[in-house]
Amino acid sequence: MKKHLLIFGLSAGLFLQPVLAQKKATSKTPTKSAAATKADNAVPLDPAVKVGKLPNGFTYYIRRNVEPKNRVTIYLANKAGSILENDNQRGLAHLMEHMSFNGTKNFPKNELVNYLQKTGVRFGADLNAYTSFDETVYQLPIPSDDPTIVKNGLQIMRDWAQDATLDPAEIDKERGVVLEEKRLGKGAQQRMQDQYLPMLFNNSRYSNRLPIGTEDVLKNASAQTIKDFYKDWYRPNLQALIVVGDINVDEMEQMIKAKFSDLKNPVNAKPRTQYDIPLMGKNQFITVTDKEFPVTVAQILIKHKEQPLLTKTDLRNSVIRSLYNQMIAARFSELSKQANPPFLQAGSNISGFLAGLDAATTFIAAKPGEFEKGLKTTFTEVERVKRFGFTTTELERAKSSFLTRQESAFKEKDKTSSDSFVQEYVQLFLKGSVSPGIEYEYNLYKEALPTITLAEVNSLAKTYITDTNRDVIIMAPEKDKATLPTEATVNEWINSVLKDNIKPYVDEVSNKPLLANKPVGGKVVSENKIPEIGVTELTLSNGVKVILKPTDFKNDEITFYGFSPGGTSLYSDADYQSAANAASIISRGGVGEFNSLQLPKYLTGKRVSVSPMITERTEGISAFTSPKDLETALQLTYLYFTAPRKDPEIFKGIMSQQKGNLANRDSDPNSVFSDTTSAVLGQNNVRRTGPTVEKLNQINLDRAYEIYKERFADASDFTFTFVGSFDIAKIKPLLEQYLGSLPSTKRKESAVDLGIRPPAGVIAKNVYKGQEPKASVRLFFSGDYTYNQANNNQLDALAEVLTIKLIERLREDEGGVYGVGASASYSKLPANRYSLSISFGCAPENVDKLVASTLDEISKIKNNGAQAVDIQKFVAEETRGTETQIKTNQFWLGSIVGAYQNGEDPKEVLTYVDSLKLVTPESLKQAANTYLSGKNYIKFVLLPEKK
Ligand SMILES: [Zn+2]
Repeated sequence: MKKHLLIFGLSAGLFLQPVLAQKKATSKTPTKSAAATKADNAVPLDPAVKVGKLPNGFTYYIRRNVEPKNRVTIYLANKAGSILENDNQRGLAHLMEHMSFNGTKNFPKNELVNYLQKTGVRFGADLNAYTSFDETVYQLPIPSDDPTIVKNGLQIMRDWAQDATLDPAEIDKERGVVLEEKRLGKGAQQRMQDQYLPMLFNNSRYSNRLPIGTEDVLKNASAQTIKDFYKDWYRPNLQALIVVGDINVDEMEQMIKAKFSDLKNPVNAKPRTQYDIPLMGKNQFITVTDKEFPVTVAQILIKHKEQPLLTKTDLRNSVIRSLYNQMIAARFSELSKQANPPFLQAGSNISGFLAGLDAATTFIAAKPGEFEKGLKTTFTEVERVKRFGFTTTELERAKSSFLTRQESAFKEKDKTSSDSFVQEYVQLFLKGSVSPGIEYEYNLYKEALPTITLAEVNSLAKTYITDTNRDVIIMAPEKDKATLPTEATVNEWINSVLKDNIKPYVDEVSNKPLLANKPVGGKVVSENKIPEIGVTELTLSNGVKVILKPTDFKNDEITFYGFSPGGTSLYSDADYQSAANAASIISRGGVGEFNSLQLPKYLTGKRVSVSPMITERTEGISAFTSPKDLETALQLTYLYFTAPRKDPEIFKGIMSQQKGNLANRDSDPNSVFSDTTSAVLGQNNVRRTGPTVEKLNQINLDRAYEIYKERFADASDFTFTFVGSFDIAKIKPLLEQYLGSLPSTKRKESAVDLGIRPPAGVIAKNVYKGQEPKASVRLFFSGDYTYNQANNNQLDALAEVLTIKLIERLREDEGGVYGVGASASYSKLPANRYSLSISFGCAPENVDKLVASTLDEISKIKNNGAQAVDIQKFVAEETRGTETQIKTNQFWLGSIVGAYQNGEDPKEVLTYVDSLKLVTPESLKQAANTYLSGKNYIKFVLLPEKK
């Protein structure tokens, strides 16, 4: 959401860090320290980025990059965040960030947002900012083909750097917005975090400087206190401007010099202290429970000093860490594929933590009643790695995957997005991390990989899995409090694992080919071109239709999607659970001769992902591959049609994990609310009500397998769409061989209309769940519809104009919400229907008032039409958005598949922007009266439990 805030939190997500995030990694003490070696070990800065520093200390990074074309992304980074706040300022770094959008010298009041929206910049999605402990970063992506917009963009940055107005009346209005943002974060996670964070942060300054701050400060801090923070910390020697885009570097540098040279550092500036989290040299333990927390989770963090990513040695060590993380993740993934997996989810890795620390983190979400077993199994796995290390074949695979990822990044070097360069330079400024460019990195990795030994990788476990500086955090449902282990018990468990007779890991690899015999292919029997959109349609001899759109948007990417009508709509309610889960259950069992453990090993070093799926109205294949692995992707596709695997062990495992995931679902307010809205909108049809254990019990593996085979038995009514970097003549033989050989019975099938519609009339549904004083509101309008581009445009415009109006009213004027949005959806199949839904979170006592304000804004459009300026913003956003979207593979895949599914003209995409001319104040007045008449209107409200 707009003006968002990064709060440090712990969750399962912590484990899924991208490789890039792991780059700020480890390094062992360099063995040589001679000056010559030091120079050898230095990593140069990418010559394509121009770095400079003005006499006042203001830093800038400029790079020309044309992905996307005619755009430039500008960031302002401040080395100032909540850690610098005084006690009476807790929360003000973040409130300050908000105030930058509420009046500056050259853009008074809401003019800044207003101006940018008119240029097509979306508030929230494009224009945004975040506040963290150590930094506040503002982001602004703008068109670069209009010099006025670029000039104003720089002016906005200049204003943010030192010229925020900080009008006390505006501050008072924004307090409400930030308090609402804080309210959204309330709940079980936050209540538990409040208890364990001081321990996790070793009672350092970080423990009581969470960016969101305290309610007292947010409500009562004077305007002067905020101004003090701004004056002390927004200063040129702590700031950098990062500019990457379709611009002239020298001209940009001159403009920056002209605009930012007069920024002043305060006289007697306060020192910018670098705070850290000291290591305690001891172990810590805490259990926290909560009524609304559904599962028992343990996190074990072993903290270590962080080594910055500065030298070649550091880069090499970061590769070693990445290989380690990849191999241990694969081991845990295998464990989770057992018939009776010992946990719902578990993992272990080494990564950056915070404030000068790294951590080896081990995580487990336990199955109900199996905490001890789960935790011991998890420890055992980590201990196995520590005791025996990895195997040579595991390391080979990890190296191969790592190299494949780097190769791909290198191939895309002229297609790298400006945003990703900007992110890298922000880290370069904030942390000094190296940024040599992909060419340098790729060459370094290629050289380093063969020299990395198994012993080096294995030594990481011994270095990082230590028995000091270890924190154990256990989070659990309140009702399980009595059964939770004490610190002594957990220590006993750990010791028992250490004494266990653990066996080394055995790596089972299959040497079979994926496809023993290549199928006898078909032929292209007809070919048709749609030159306006660069599309070629092929029909193969077995009836399969192939739509091809070669592009040069990426160098190393092909995406494809095949579908045919049918889906779960063809099965009875009794079969529904088996049908709806068939594709995921069958595909998780592997394919052909490869089970689910062997398949990922076989695919190592290939960039390919192929997934079968069965939706309500279609069955199909969704795939992604690099051009060099297209044949593998097509072989997998062929196998998912002709040789699906039924694996009873995997099935048992999936069921037991799914059941564990559902335990205590009714204690989580958000799950209860979303299950309720979905059930009401689907009139309690079993295909729309929330998941239950009873429903899981209805899944029958044999029936699921049967349904799967039935869905993929006939490819003659399938349409496959390929978008990406390929040459039609070159891939045609592959398409003929693997898609032309798919089974064909020429059966006639179409999806069935199940008749599931939202109820008509006016309905109010309150759900009472949760302890915090917070409410969620969803207003839902729906009805019959005439589906066509003109009407779709009106509905989209109505939703966007309403969103603009509701943000102005509910957020900016009334300070009653953090975010609010309206979204439209429409369908042609199974029936012409539309819906428009408006959602926001707020204080329970404000629900009625804010719903009334919402309905009032709707009435205004109904009575007076929309305002021309809001339509101008909508059209600018869509026009600018389409300019960049239309240069991506994802956009074309979605648009072509959508057109073929709905029987529409795929060329309509070309007239889209022009067709927006028909959106006028008057047309939206009509649209509001038609679609928001209130005849079919459902109000859902989630409120706290009645005490
Ligand atoms: Zn915020």
